[in-house]
Amino acid sequence: MIEELCDLFWKHRDRGSTRPVVAGYGHQFFPEEIVAACGLDAVNLLVGGSEAWQTRGLDYLTPTSCVFSRQMIGFLEAARDDKPDLPPIKAMVHTNFCSGDWHSMEAVRRYFGMEVLPLPIPYKATARSLKLLAGTLRGVASKLAAIAGGQVDAERLFKTIERARQLQNAIAKYAKLSIAGIQKLQDFYEIALAPWEQRVTIANGLVEKREHSMPKEKPSSLNIVLTGSPVLLGDKFSSMLEAIDMPVRFYDFHFADQQGLKRIPAGPGDLVALKKHVDFSDPFQVLAAHYLEIAAPERMVQGIVDHLDERIRAIVDYARFLPDGQGINGVIAHVLKFCDVYGTDRTPFKSRMQDTNGIPVLDIERDYSASSAGQISARIEAFKEMLVTQKKHGDKLE
Ligand code: SF4
Repeated sequence: MIEELCDLFWKHRDRGSTRPVVAGYGHQFFPEEIVAACGLDAVNLLVGGSEAWQTRGLDYLTPTSCVFSRQMIGFLEAARDDKPDLPPIKAMVHTNFCSGDWHSMEAVRRYFGMEVLPLPIPYKATARSLKLLAGTLRGVASKLAAIAGGQVDAERLFKTIERARQLQNAIAKYAKLSIAGIQKLQDFYEIALAPWEQRVTIANGLVEKREHSMPKEKPSSLNIVLTGSPVLLGDKFSSMLEAIDMPVRFYDFHFADQQGLKRIPAGPGDLVALKKHVDFSDPFQVLAAHYLEIAAPERMVQGIVDHLDERIRAIVDYARFLPDGQGINGVIAHVLKFCDVYGTDRTPFKSRMQDTNGIPVLDIERDYSASSAGQISARIEAFKEMLVTQKKHGDKLE
């Protein structure tokens, strides 16, 4: 698994680069734009699925820490002891996107000799939390600039925000292609693990490449969304879906199709709760508004908008990337054990998605152990059969 990460890490990087690496497993809140604007190499550690690392993490974290955070501690131990072909991580940004990220911060600081930059993000989108978060982001940027030996430059940050919007456009184009399954996920890993400044070019290049080699769509293909705790590089879950011919059309993860739906706001019209409060001449306020109102409704508490409705609306919205007349046939809600963000609203998520939108949901909770794989695979196969039957009936009625 670590080899796969090394291969993608070096695929678009110059081995002579001396830029310090700043990493995160902060999910939606790893502030890559700020890291890149400070001239540092932003690397979101998108590795997951190792049962051995998950077990190693138990030496540092409680058994009720989320599976991914335990696994990341195991990964950091392997990266320290086994000397893989990766540069040292100079600093880690930890956010309270979820308990997994936040709780493992102390273990990283204490046992892995890295500078740790905490990024606490409020749980409600209000005028006050916007100002608080903008100040916190400014503070994180100053620390990052100090690591890079430079200054925080607002103009440079605006340029990286603009590049992030270009990347979101490129991902939206990619999402429209009728590509599904593991190849699509691999492309997203490649884009996300490339150096920041090359990602737009790489994403547009992949759009062009895949347009020319697009598979003929099978008439019976299902349009499936995989949502919840991200499925990361090295996780056998995606190859298991492939093996049972259940290719996922949309990956509702921050580094995947979801980027094509969630734009960094460019003006008040892109916001609801914070529209009157953001000073759009301040890049930190723009990013703060993005994190509070757009990036991750699933971890927010109730405000002007209902966070669960927002999450569901975003998933239903993937239909806009489909050809006319097609819809989302089903959703697989993937929850890693002890994940607070995606574990909390499992039942209402399923019922609201099914009752309000008529989209069936298969709810799967798992860890990285191989022992439950057979049972999970059987449940997904049964779900697929149900969807195929439902689609046949629907097609006949039209
Ligand atoms: S699995 Fe859930 S709790 Fe764990 S790091 Fe991911 S989002 Fe956070």
